[in-house]
Amino acid sequence: LTDVIQAKKEDKKERNIFENISKEEVFEDLVKIFGKEYVTDKPHDLYPYSYDMTEVEPHMPDFVVLPDNVDEIVQLINFCNSNKIPIIPYVTGNNVGGLTIPEHGGIICDMGKRMNRILAVHESLMYAILEPGVTFGHLKRYLDDNYPKLKYTYPLAPPYASVVMNALLAGESNITAHGTTADWVNGVEVVLNNGEVVRTGTSFVSKELKYDNWYYRQSIPDLTGLFVCWQGLTGIVTKCAIKLVPKKEFNTALAIVIYGNEACADVQKAMGRTECCEDVAIINVEVVKMLFDKVKPKIYDDEPDWAILLSISAQTKELLQAKVNYVKKVFEKVKEKHNRIFLTNYYTFRNLVGDVLNRVYDLPEAIPLLYYWNSITWVGTYGNPDNFAPLMDECRKLYKKYDLEPFIYMKSMNNGHYGLFRVITRYNQEKEEETVKKLQQEVLDVLLDYDCVPDKTPVWVAEKMREKCDPNWFKLLERIKKAMDPNNIFNPGKWGLD
Ligand SMILES: Cc1cc2nc3c(=O)[nH]c(=O)nc-3n(C[C@H](O)[C@H](O)[C@H](O)COP(=O)(O)OP(=O)(O)OC[C@H]3O[C@@H](n4cnc5c(N)ncnc54)[C@H](O)[C@@H]3O)c2cc1C
Repeated sequence: LTDVIQAKKEDKKERNIFENISKEEVFEDLVKIFGKEYVTDKPHDLYPYSYDMTEVEPHMPDFVVLPDNVDEIVQLINFCNSNKIPIIPYVTGNNVGGLTIPEHGGIICDMGKRMNRILAVHESLMYAILEPGVTFGHLKRYLDDNYPKLKYTYPLAPPYASVVMNALLAGESNITAHGTTADWVNGVEVVLNNGEVVRTGTSFVSKELKYDNWYYRQSIPDLTGLFVCWQGLTGIVTKCAIKLVPKKEFNTALAIVIYGNEACADVQKAMGRTECCEDVAIINVEVVKMLFDKVKPKIYDDEPDWAILLSISAQTKELLQAKVNYVKKVFEKVKEKHNRIFLTNYYTFRNLVGDVLNRVYDLPEAIPLLYYWNSITWVGTYGNPDNFAPLMDECRKLYKKYDLEPFIYMKSMNNGHYGLFRVITRYNQEKEEETVKKLQQEVLDVLLDYDCVPDKTPVWVAEKMREKCDPNWFKLLERIKKAMDPNNIFNPGKWGLD
């Protein structure tokens, strides 16, 4: 199968993007739109946009532009649409899937540098309106300083990654009781291929943009979905309204250590459906050791297999205690079936092992264990937790086969309605890239066979999905793409849509 994909790649003809206009003319027109200071075609400026931290094949862009406002984006899209030049929208390129690598060259539209304003926070309806470049670190500090009673949900991603793009990629974060971060989106403002600016969600109710009516996304056709998980293929998002939630005063965390995959899957499901945990996060025990700088952690006989972190919060002390009591009661019930599971207060655990554990708890944070080598990649999916026990087993076997250290990350999503199953690999690019590619292919096969659905879908994953999933789904995807971007200017090649 790897050979088939390789052959397909070699067959793929690179698009001649300067068919209708010379490269020199493109440069001049971009300078007219953005000003000389904000356009570059210098190889040393382009190079950082040509690759990411994964195994996805690098490719150079032809230009990078740094827009400041919606009007410039409109002009850029009109220009590119007339001349069939690709635009790759970009914020910080931290998607872990090659999603901003320009498959056919073209113009990187980097919105991280100047379109990074927090435009409004609606305190009473609990939402914020953000430009694409607002980062997790920026949002957290802004809320803490100005709206200390409100909070957002944070992933393990670096604090300098984009809040909006994470939400539009349906990310997972530390309040997964609400689902993915896409469930936190009230609507977007987006520039379409014909230069029209449109708002999805309740904000459409007024002709002009207002900051006080972007509170909900449905009861009308959910057009926001045309931009969620589309990786910039359908338009360029210029604003996004995201939900905030009350910051609860009383917080605690419990940790559970577990022997056995079946026990782990059962605890995960049971904890999710208590509806008492903001988050239920699970890692294999090797990852706990990686937190302490262990490169290839050794596992001794009779060590536990999994560790679970439960975050619990409430508006009053009594409510917090009631939630903890219920979680403990459910835990005891599961223990009747699986007696090798052990519950402790996370803070006790942290006091024993040290402050390093705060880093995975008080997000956003740059988490050193994720950056140990020069590269990181993953096969990230959402799936059916009933299948997680065999998946844990099969994925561990694959890591063993390729002699790489296992890093399996799971979550209960939306109070147990589904789960996250992510197989992460930190690796040394020079030595291990080919091995990692093979591992990734095999892991994806297993995950798809167990009906998991990939997220932040890299092109190579989409190609495999085409072989295994319902072809009519892909046909509809292609029809929508054609309708929304007939000249194929937006991030061409992603989702395998050339
Ligand atoms: C170490 C590490 C840990 C991570 N942990 C997590 C985690 O725990 N959970 C999680 O969910 N994610 C995680 N991530 C992924 C990451 O947080 C998100 O993918 C990221 O926040 C997306 O923001 P970005 O700035 O990287 O977007 P980019 O990578 O720049 O863009 C993402 C996609 O959106 C498109 N795009 C960019 N701007 C626009 C626009 N204005 N309009 C339309 N499309 C656009 C791009 O073309 C691309 O397809 C992690 C990443 C790293 C590096």
